[in-house]
Amino acid sequence: TTVGSPLRKEVGLIRKSPPFFSLLMKYVFFLTLSLLLVSMENIGEQVVCLIAYHLLFAMFVWSYWKTIFTLPMNPSKEFHLSYAEKELLEREPRGEAHQEVLRRAAKDLPIYTRTMSGAIRYCDRCQLIKPDRCHHCSVCDKCILKMDHHCPWVNNCVGFSNYKFFLLFLAYSLLYCLFIAATDLQYFIKFWTNGLPDTQAKFHIMFLFFAAAMFSVSLSSLFGYHCWLVSKNKSTLEAFRSPVFRHGTDKNGFSLGFSKNMRQVFGDEKKYWLLPVFSSLGDGCSFPTCLVNQDPEQPSTPAGLNPASKNPENHQFPAKPLRESQSHLLTDSQSWTESSTNPGKDKAGMSNPALTMENET
Ligand SMILES: [Zn+2]
Ligand SMILES: [Zn+2]
Repeated sequence: TTVGSPLRKEVGLIRKSPPFFSLLMKYVFFLTLSLLLVSMENIGEQVVCLIAYHLLFAMFVWSYWKTIFTLPMNPSKEFHLSYAEKELLEREPRGEAHQEVLRRAAKDLPIYTRTMSGAIRYCDRCQLIKPDRCHHCSVCDKCILKMDHHCPWVNNCVGFSNYKFFLLFLAYSLLYCLFIAATDLQYFIKFWTNGLPDTQAKFHIMFLFFAAAMFSVSLSSLFGYHCWLVSKNKSTLEAFRSPVFRHGTDKNGFSLGFSKNMRQVFGDEKKYWLLPVFSSLGDGCSFPTCLVNQDPEQPSTPAGLNPASKNPENHQFPAKPLRESQSHLLTDSQSWTESSTNPGKDKAGMSNPALTMENET
């Protein structure tokens, strides 16, 4: 594509949208344009349709471009182990001593999630303590903040830095396909009622309609699925395997209620919601959680209160990213040993290959 070429070197990674895809885009663009011009006799109608069409196409390309070329974010410096800590880890055999080193290193970090066995989440490849919702992508060979999945269509990891762009890309490409299908529909009907002249255009019209309809169906199911994920504040990986907290598995551990969940991804300012401009809340390293305190060492929530994530205000954890609130709830290293007695109840997620995410034990 013309927009991509100067940027590719700068990014320094081999990422191209599949050539087939850009060819298809050009073909569809010009064919639909000519159909639009032919089909409308009224000049006013033509102008309105052409503006709408170009606007949709521009938004679609913009969000696609942003999804491809936004670099995924990696954990910040404080999550990396110091040289001394790395040395210590190498000397210690795996097991309890190993964990003790990690526990000490993670003392002041805002992390709530654990591995299935209750241990600190550590990445051997990147030698860092994984922030909540961060996963190691085996394709990028890096830890990606709030990793959603590695997407072959955009040849990039979809995560904290570009999830909003990815959602908008799905939305605009869906609208674009629906627009094409709607424009092409009258020709499609004429085709079956033999109202079309027997030219080569017949083939293009049929192809265009089937392609637009096919993409519309698959995009709408994917877009619907991601809307559900956003409303529950889950990533694709978390939908397959629920996050494990100090006190056990909680599939809605990050959910703050519908409106707040939406704002986590789209931001507080409505004017940016529909534009592929970064506006997600937080820093990607720490996330507000909405958990009921099930830690035996701490006073539990009164029985009458609804424990599910319905009322964020009542919860123990702050609704702001933890970095800001300076919370040090994890400083008591005692409590997590207790929680390791009930490692993840939700073993079901284990059976899923969980895409490109590396396994944790
Ligand atoms: Zn890693
Ligand atoms: Zn990746």
